[in-house]
Amino acid sequence: MALALYNTLTRTKAEFVPLDPHNVRVYVCGPTVYDYAHIGNARPVIVFDVLFRLLRHIYGPDHVVYVRNITDVDDKINARAAERGISIRALTEETTAAFHEDISTLNVLAPTIEPRATDHIAEMREMIARLIDRGHAYAADGHVLFSVPSMADYGALSRRSPDEMRAGARVEVAPYKRDPMDFVLWKPSSGDEPGWDSPWGNGRPGWHLECSAMSWKYLGEVFDIHGGGIDLQFPHHENEIAQSRCCHGTEVMAQVWMHNGFLQVEGEKMSKSLGNFITIHDLVNAWPGEAIRLNMLRTHYRQPFDWTEKGLLESIAVLDGWYEAVGDVPLGPVSCADTVDALEDDLNTPKAITALHALRAEAAKGAAGAADCLKASANLLGLLEGTASEWFARKKQAAGLDETEIETLIAARNTARAERNWAEADRIRDQMTEMGVVLKDGPEGTTWEVAT
Ligand code: AMP
Ligand code: ZN
Repeated sequence: MALALYNTLTRTKAEFVPLDPHNVRVYVCGPTVYDYAHIGNARPVIVFDVLFRLLRHIYGPDHVVYVRNITDVDDKINARAAERGISIRALTEETTAAFHEDISTLNVLAPTIEPRATDHIAEMREMIARLIDRGHAYAADGHVLFSVPSMADYGALSRRSPDEMRAGARVEVAPYKRDPMDFVLWKPSSGDEPGWDSPWGNGRPGWHLECSAMSWKYLGEVFDIHGGGIDLQFPHHENEIAQSRCCHGTEVMAQVWMHNGFLQVEGEKMSKSLGNFITIHDLVNAWPGEAIRLNMLRTHYRQPFDWTEKGLLESIAVLDGWYEAVGDVPLGPVSCADTVDALEDDLNTPKAITALHALRAEAAKGAAGAADCLKASANLLGLLEGTASEWFARKKQAAGLDETEIETLIAARNTARAERNWAEADRIRDQMTEMGVVLKDGPEGTTWEVAT
């Protein structure tokens, strides 16, 4: 089967044909680093990591370039640094390091390049100068604005009417704008605000321009796939397209635009005021990262996703079953065609997971090669990368259980059973159930697991 992807630009699913199969190029909007990233931010990180893995599988690991940026210049960053009384650089470095640490347990491959916006101010200035030259931008009152009416097909990605776009942009109509839809490419900086010299005065770039400049530098004027959350479709991606196409005189910026659906929590929009705001940091401290990842992938990336603790517990139980099946076998050589087919169908991860369940059932029946195949196929989704011993050991540790105490209790229960003291044996079992331990009596003796 050939790879098919849903393209937001055309609103259709079509076969993916890279511009150059030896150099498949992907750009995904990364986080704005002013605070811990929340679990909504983890969704594109995980979804596009699956895409990255699949493209590497199809085209070869050396033939895919994946750029995910760090937005380290933004007014939210300035405000937070001032609030905390630290420098902007200290804040963005601390937050970037926290982001890397948080996502490290989610089995996410490092992108090929992770550029920081502030390292690309020169490219941004160059793009602005070109846009002014070509009549697509104008300087006014220390700002440089992109002239939306200068682009005949502005709005093609989000397909909104100009009235909707004006409302959607949610901007105060500043007096220096020729049209209310015009957006900022460069704005003046004063006082403590970060600023760089430019022909238009000391200032800083607008957010949209950052991604246009970084994708141009690393992927060229036109590249294959641009991704991000659906919230970015308008105005961010619409404006990236406007800047890049008008600057380079191209028909498209990226061939395919992919958007992940929004994530909510226990049926509600995640927000600080509702008290249901969950950071990746909190989550990975409490739960195995692999279960968080699987939980996200159980829903197709374009669908809205409801994050629930129930779903997370189910995901842990699924991984228990899979790890039980694969044990500590080394990586199997062949992944299963059903898994690859499902992923090639617009990253249909729920269907891929169904294929993994089938392999697990085969493995349970003792079918030759099924466990190897389960492991190799799950690896394509960034799952089952560890061993069963590690998975179960981590679970025991995470549950805060003292292994020595448990072994002592099991020994005491065995003695009671040997003495046919069933009441005592049952009492110990009940005590262990209370502790969250499940006992399994088998021919080899008694083993234990953490209850889910
Ligand atoms: P930001 O740091 O807000 O610019 O977001 C970084 C990435 O996370 C972007 O691709 C956003 O579209 C995505 N994102 C933010 N919030 C959510 C959410 N609740 N659900 C899914 N994706 C989100
Ligand atoms: Zn972007």
